[in-house]
Amino acid sequence: MYDNSWRPIYTVDGRVVPDPLRLYPTPQGMAEPSPVRCRNGHHLGANRVLVGSTPCPLIGGHHRTHTCRTCGYVIYTPQEVPGCKH
Ligand SMILES: [Zn+2]
Ligand SMILES: [Zn+2]
Repeated sequence: MYDNSWRPIYTVDGRVVPDPLRLYPTPQGMAEPSPVRCRNGHHLGANRVLVGSTPCPLIGGHHRTHTCRTCGYVIYTPQEVPGCKH
């Protein structure tokens, strides 16, 4: 469901990054930003988040999905647009 009222904070290797759509260099190589917390405040650390992707015709590609294993909240990257139905 489209929800533009909250935006997650993203980090790479523990550093907050401004753009969740690009890759950032780390000592281990280029890495994709991941959200720190779900909307309900649960920390999305190792084993606490399910990472996947879902195709979306509206954005012409895929959303990365981070699903909180505590509450089931799904963060879409890029964020959903009006009319998204997944
Ligand atoms: Zn949660
Ligand atoms: Zn979508």
